[in-house]
Amino acid sequence: MKVAENQPLDRLNTFGISARAGILITIETEEDLLSVPGFDPARDFVLGGGSNVLFVTDVPGIVYLNRLSGIEIRRENPDEVLLEVGAGESWHELVAWSVARGFSGIENLALIPGLAGAAPLQNIGAYGVELASVLDSVTAWDWHTATWVVLSKQECLLGYRDSLFKAAQPDRYLITSTRLILKKHFTAQVAYSGLAAELEKSSPGGTSLADVFAAVIRLRRKKLPDPAVIGNAGSFFKNPLVPATLYQQLSDRFPALPSWDAGGAGIKVSAAWLIEHCDLKGFEMNGAAVSGQHALVLVNQGQCSGLAVWELAQLVQARVWDTFGVRLEPEPKIFRFAEVG
Ligand SMILES: Cc1cc2nc3c(=O)[nH]c(=O)nc-3n(C[C@H](O)[C@H](O)[C@H](O)COP(=O)(O)OP(=O)(O)OC[C@H]3O[C@@H](n4cnc5c(N)ncnc54)[C@H](O)[C@@H]3O)c2cc1C
Repeated sequence: MKVAENQPLDRLNTFGISARAGILITIETEEDLLSVPGFDPARDFVLGGGSNVLFVTDVPGIVYLNRLSGIEIRRENPDEVLLEVGAGESWHELVAWSVARGFSGIENLALIPGLAGAAPLQNIGAYGVELASVLDSVTAWDWHTATWVVLSKQECLLGYRDSLFKAAQPDRYLITSTRLILKKHFTAQVAYSGLAAELEKSSPGGTSLADVFAAVIRLRRKKLPDPAVIGNAGSFFKNPLVPATLYQQLSDRFPALPSWDAGGAGIKVSAAWLIEHCDLKGFEMNGAAVSGQHALVLVNQGQCSGLAVWELAQLVQARVWDTFGVRLEPEPKIFRFAEVG
């Protein structure tokens, strides 16, 4: 465990926002958790790769930086393998490691930034696959009882960009490892039409695990702004779920609005389309901007503050609400310290 006071967080968040931690504690082994001071959600923060967080203010208390490593095969049979992955492992490196060994199930989630421990938080998803399709269980440190718990996939309450850790029990657990079940026999998951088209172009007639992995990487590099070049946290808003009646009114007025049936939950509509049709693509304010490359991504154009990004996000929400009557919900965790009294 490393402990350091008054540390910059600028390089620890992909928005590149300048913020400081009162104390930065790097967790390197599970035993470190036995001697840490605890967790106050108003003042403290658990940080992985920092790719889904916006620091609007400094973090006055403790930032716990998760660096728990290790990938182990816990069990296997001729069809499947059960992996246990330390929460501090890079998610993309885990995907590459699995593909190299012929283990499939997460190849469509290649190149998602961040660490394996954060993957259950929002049930990461891309190109028609979500973590939920491979998750077995999660081991976590329970801040309330100061003990470890093992939570089954069902107990994790995974939903669209959602989970127990985000909604029902936010800030209660620090995930220390995840267990995933991957397949030894590969079946390509190419229901997402953009991926099918990319594969048809790059490897007509044959689709191996390595082909899908490579196609996902190519597609992502084309579509999304690279945080190493311009600060961002990927999609800033979730695709909103709207009730059937509102969807009917919207699709009558805007027949081109992209939508997906979300089962009984309602209809999911494209947040990027809504933002673009408020003429906000490329819109800038105080150094923060709606990406000109992808309307769902907010970017730090250089040295903007976290507050500037947050004010831009609120403007986008207000415009979309005024124009379409649809409420956009942010996807990243927004940290804002509010002094009480
Ligand atoms: C360019 C880009 C593209 C992206 N594309 C996608 C995508 O396609 N699909 C997708 O789902 N997401 C995407 N994201 C979002 C992000 O990469 C994922 O949500 C990722 O899982 C976040 O991991 P992280 O380690 O960076 O988490 P952080 O940003 O460090 O943390 C995110 C949240 O998880 C909590 N947290 C982190 N680690 C732990 C832990 N061990 N225990 C408990 N809580 C924890 C934090 O407190 C915070 O609330 C993208 C982001 C970027 C920048």
